[in-house]
Amino acid sequence: MHERIADGIFQVGGGAFSSPSDCLVYALDLGEVVLVDCGCGPSWPRIGKNMLEAGLGDPHTLVLTHAHVDHIGAAPAVVRETGCRVAAHELDADAIESGDERLTAAGWYGLTLETMSVDHRMQGEGEVLEFPSGSLHLLHTPGHTPGSIAAWTETEQGRVLFGQDVHGPFSPSFGSDVDAWRTSMARLLDLEAEILCEGHYGVFRGKQRVRTFIEEQLDINR
Ligand SMILES: [Zn+2]
Repeated sequence: MHERIADGIFQVGGGAFSSPSDCLVYALDLGEVVLVDCGCGPSWPRIGKNMLEAGLGDPHTLVLTHAHVDHIGAAPAVVRETGCRVAAHELDADAIESGDERLTAAGWYGLTLETMSVDHRMQGEGEVLEFPSGSLHLLHTPGHTPGSIAAWTETEQGRVLFGQDVHGPFSPSFGSDVDAWRTSMARLLDLEAEILCEGHYGVFRGKQRVRTFIEEQLDINR
């Protein structure tokens, strides 16, 4: 099961696509395949099958938007099976590598994470990953966790933003900072994305709808 979101961009995991425990998992064909997050782990075979169905080969790069287990749990298996590189922000990379039960929220899910390596530690505010047929912009959006990142790319259908956990939630146990999050959300609004791919709430289409969703979250977490 997969759904085409825009040219070369697909949802391949989350909910009925793989498991309700998983975050929504997105895959991009930029000449090389990029996976944005990968779910808890047990459902990885379904996600891999969904990618094949969508005509996508093995991922070249796995971007982990933050350290939570529902986004990273499958990463060790993905790396073992495909040899892809893993990218994450340096402020969440230690938690990802160690599988820290509190910072990854694995304790909440009753899961245990394998240790793993982050090959590419993003530093600072932002950077651009270049691929044969496009670029993926990474933006540091701290708040939900210290090293949360968003990613965006340009398509024929407009700018597509992978905001993932725009909605939070926030907990001191994994280092949330609501003030930092508000600043991060202002940066996402400035992108004026045409399509927002969220981590749990689905895909929002149209600049106004994207803006409204982010502003609603800002209202809820006042
Ligand atoms: Zn999260």
